[in-house]
Amino acid sequence: MASKKLAAFLQENLEDLKSRGLYNVIDPLESPNGPVIKIGGRELINLSSNNYLGLATDERLKKAAIEAVKEFGVGAGAVRTINGTLEIHVNLEKKIAEFKHTEAAIAFQSGFNCNMAAISAVMDKNDAILSDELNHASIIDGCRLSKAKIIRFNHSDMDDLRAKAKEAKESGQFNKIMVITDGVFSMDGDIAKLPEIVEIAEEFDLITYVDDAHGSGVLGNGAGTVKHFGLSDKIDFQIGTLSKAIGVIGGYVAGKQDLIDWLKVRSRPFLFSTALTPADVAACTKAIEILIDSTELQEKLWNNGDYLKKGLKELGFDIGHSETPITPCIIGDEVLAQQFSKRLNEEGVYAKAIVFPTVPRGTGRVRNMPTAAHTREMLDQAISIYEKVGKELGII
Ligand code: PMP
Repeated sequence: MASKKLAAFLQENLEDLKSRGLYNVIDPLESPNGPVIKIGGRELINLSSNNYLGLATDERLKKAAIEAVKEFGVGAGAVRTINGTLEIHVNLEKKIAEFKHTEAAIAFQSGFNCNMAAISAVMDKNDAILSDELNHASIIDGCRLSKAKIIRFNHSDMDDLRAKAKEAKESGQFNKIMVITDGVFSMDGDIAKLPEIVEIAEEFDLITYVDDAHGSGVLGNGAGTVKHFGLSDKIDFQIGTLSKAIGVIGGYVAGKQDLIDWLKVRSRPFLFSTALTPADVAACTKAIEILIDSTELQEKLWNNGDYLKKGLKELGFDIGHSETPITPCIIGDEVLAQQFSKRLNEEGVYAKAIVFPTVPRGTGRVRNMPTAAHTREMLDQAISIYEKVGKELGII
């Protein structure tokens, strides 16, 4: 018999979310996830995806995936430690290490999975983790899973990090101490202060962990935030996702050979969950080869990002302090941000409102993610729609 407790719990909480306007309706796309998408029979300029370089629909990646399916089938068959590993998985990891300028790399089934895997494979209840307060949910969950003491520091506040690192070190309570940060913060587009973080880490002997989901393929000629600052040999864990700039699915840790060897014997999603499919692996490998060979897509991305930012700023929008193509339009009031996003949609732009708890209360925004695949015409059209709706709602 179905649980009455569960039914009551679900009904009460779903109704509560719906009544507060917090129930997220997921739009079914009737097209690939490109720069223009189709929803409900209407074409919309898509400014919401993480497909930064447009690789999710790239013909070269599609071809590589199709060939891999023909050669290796559709599934990896089992966990790699149990059933052996396809050669293409090993090749992907070699390519990732080359791309990230590290000794070795290990691939996971998603970026989320990767944070769950990597943190708890190294940290335990005798340890402490210094974590930026705006770190991604998967980092927060990975930290919790490790049972280490979590010490949050104010966002990118190096004085606060230093003080908390000093206190943790001098307390003598902890065996290992780690500092974790996103490389690029996805809600504001700002870049972590890695040179200062490395300096503090050296002073207090901290393990360094950078989740570069939004910096890989975007900064450092594509190699990411760590390379952007020339710190490839100073960061212990470089985490990346294969689902954003790379355009496919999966995640990875890149670092020293010993670290990767350890993760292969100790990280639970690697040991207990089936590996990426051959199609995913082949498409990811192709994407990384493209990024190693050329910076053309990054250049397009940055040109489009700069163009959109300039256009929206000139109209009078508050675009915050982004240092990357991520372009928020900060509105403040959550209801107004939702209304703005809805009106943009009606006029032909798909850009989602982001509100509390994803961003702090009172900083509701519409976040725009320009990509290398957008044309100038699309961006011009989007900017003129922003002007119309922004004036209509009294935002500009
Ligand atoms: N880390 C960060 C910083 C992210 O933004 C995301 C995705 N939103 C992830 C990890 C998870 O990546 P994936 O979608 O590949 O699971």
